[in-house]
Amino acid sequence: MLKVNDLQMHFPVYGGLLRRQVAKVFAVDKVDLSVAPGETLGLVGESGCGKSTLGRAILQLYKPTAGSVKFQDKELTQLSKSEMREVRKDIQIILQDPGESLNSRHTVGRIIEEPLIIHKIGKNAAERKKQVLELLQKVGLQEDSYHRYPHEFSGGQRQRISIARAIALKPKLIICDEAVSALDVSIQSQILNLLMDLQKEMNLAYIFISHDLSVVRHVSDRIAVMYLGKIVELTDTDALYNKSLHPYTQALISAIPQPDPRRKKTSITLQGDVPSPLNPPSGCHFHTRCPLATDLCKTQVPELKQYSTSEKSHQASCHLISEP
Ligand code: SF4
Ligand code: MG
Repeated sequence: MLKVNDLQMHFPVYGGLLRRQVAKVFAVDKVDLSVAPGETLGLVGESGCGKSTLGRAILQLYKPTAGSVKFQDKELTQLSKSEMREVRKDIQIILQDPGESLNSRHTVGRIIEEPLIIHKIGKNAAERKKQVLELLQKVGLQEDSYHRYPHEFSGGQRQRISIARAIALKPKLIICDEAVSALDVSIQSQILNLLMDLQKEMNLAYIFISHDLSVVRHVSDRIAVMYLGKIVELTDTDALYNKSLHPYTQALISAIPQPDPRRKKTSITLQGDVPSPLNPPSGCHFHTRCPLATDLCKTQVPELKQYSTSEKSHQASCHLISEP
């Protein structure tokens, strides 16, 4: 359904007296991925690795520098603004802080009705109201929410409002960007369960962006791990957790608190912060933090290669992984 090929998103950086372009940030650097109908692709990495930029570049909220984004055989990078508006019926986004994305001066009813008005769905106001009430029920909100304002709701309930708005047009794909990250753990699981129920009911696909691996694991069929603009590992969820190949993934996984003490932990620990994407390290971007780095890693960029042990695909980019 969605196929992203060689996608690049570079931001120019200006400086000096003449405000000339002095550098480029490679926020998304040659990314390939795909999403099937009804599937959840997790996208993980530390903050600043380019996950949100990738999500926005897929939606054409940022115009990609190069590469292709195909959605149901439409090349999104070539569409005009009005053609893209049509596609937005099928691809929606849910953000971390619903407080900011919901207009505080509008009632919940009006907020959820807005996409229906924009896309001319429903014959009249009464019909749209009926649809909004159905949507409220679908996301587990009371009917009387219709006349209330976002600030009267808790964080979890506000996220339910943004989910209702996102599904109003019956999309095929929703990009969830840190959609539960601002919520308490108990509320997180309620929202995740709601998203998974809606997925089954509507055959929705998700790109689930999060820095939190335990959350992503809970919902994803496959997971892509990003580091400084590049995907460094991509495989199905079980393989990623049980047979991860890339030292960065192994470090992220070993940082998750392990409830079962019998399970052996990998010993890779992440040190320091993600380097600035303005001056990413040469060779393998991860070499400044990788405990296994060799001289080769400092000069040569490792390619993302296929290391499949079964018929399922397992891609990773590290010089130390032995050939498949
Ligand atoms: Fe570490 Fe080298 Fe592999 Fe990069 S290529 S992850 S630096 S071992
Ligand atoms: Mg982000």
